[in-house]
Amino acid sequence: MPVRTRLLSDEVYEYLLRCSSREPAVLARLREATAPLPESEMQIGPDQGQLMALLVKLTGARRCIDIGTYTGYSALAVALALPDDGCVVTCDVRAEWTELGRRFWREAGVESRVDLRLKPALETLDELLEQGEAERFDFAFIDADKPNYRTYYEKLLPLLRPGGLIAADNTLALSGAPILHQDSASANAMRAFNEHVHADDRVDLAMLSIGEGVTLLRKRGSSR
Ligand code: CA
Repeated sequence: MPVRTRLLSDEVYEYLLRCSSREPAVLARLREATAPLPESEMQIGPDQGQLMALLVKLTGARRCIDIGTYTGYSALAVALALPDDGCVVTCDVRAEWTELGRRFWREAGVESRVDLRLKPALETLDELLEQGEAERFDFAFIDADKPNYRTYYEKLLPLLRPGGLIAADNTLALSGAPILHQDSASANAMRAFNEHVHADDRVDLAMLSIGEGVTLLRKRGSSR
């Protein structure tokens, strides 16, 4: 049983998985390999990985950015949904985490689609912009240090094509508790992020109560 989604009862979550989960075996093995780690609750649930794969397919994404690799579950879920020539740039600073992910990317046969950047994600985003990658990405996932969410979002927007999608994690809860009732730097940053994107007319948005809350943000084009 994966770490349960925090916003549903155990019973309802188990039913949800029973009726919808199609977690590929390699993702299940990565989940098992991550479970003993003290930070394993940082890993997204199988339902959320499946949602991301669906979003990649819905948007026809070929080029993606994943901020907060951890042990590579989201990068793998995205890579498996990409076409052969697709690519996901995944950003983290902890090699001991990402090495575990690399093992499973290889095992899944999608290592060539995963471009790991081991340095602060803000540096990677700046580099992509400097290298002329503006509007060349289709999909991005933010699940990293919360105080930087707004900066990640602002740097991702120019990298996304009009119609491209950002999924931001932990917009309702952190470590199992609603951000509404937390007074921490991370929870305060998430509330400020939520207010910022709600008021931002550069994007369409929807907030989903999956996992610990995911906000989908679609970059508006010139006409709509
Ligand atoms: Ca998260």
